[in-house]
Amino acid sequence: MERRQKAARLEMRLAPVIDAEKCTGCKACIKFCKSRVLAFDKGSRKVRVKNPGNCQTVCRICAGVCTVGAITFPDEEALIHYFRKRLENLQAVMQPVRRGWAG
Ligand code: SF4
Ligand code: SF4
Repeated sequence: MERRQKAARLEMRLAPVIDAEKCTGCKACIKFCKSRVLAFDKGSRKVRVKNPGNCQTVCRICAGVCTVGAITFPDEEALIHYFRKRLENLQAVMQPVRRGWAG
């Protein structure tokens, strides 16, 4: 189940995006993210998204603690589009079943 959830989160691209230009490398976001999504890159001295499939998305604590606004999330319109597509696919799958019930 956990693997499927991670795959779905990856497919939806729900993980945060880090703007390396803005990131100061303060690590506050890493400290507050309990899902180990973020990691400090010693080379660049910035934070990067290491485990996007772990992101719980709705918490958005990382963006809240980043004082320089370096963390953003995917466009909500893209998410709505994603869920509409999923619903259409589900309806297409259910149609023959419904016909069977009606007939
Ligand atoms: S809180 Fe913001 S500035 Fe600090 S490390 Fe995270 S992304 Fe970079
Ligand atoms: S949204 Fe939550 S789970 Fe995802 S990276 Fe930010 S703090 Fe971690």
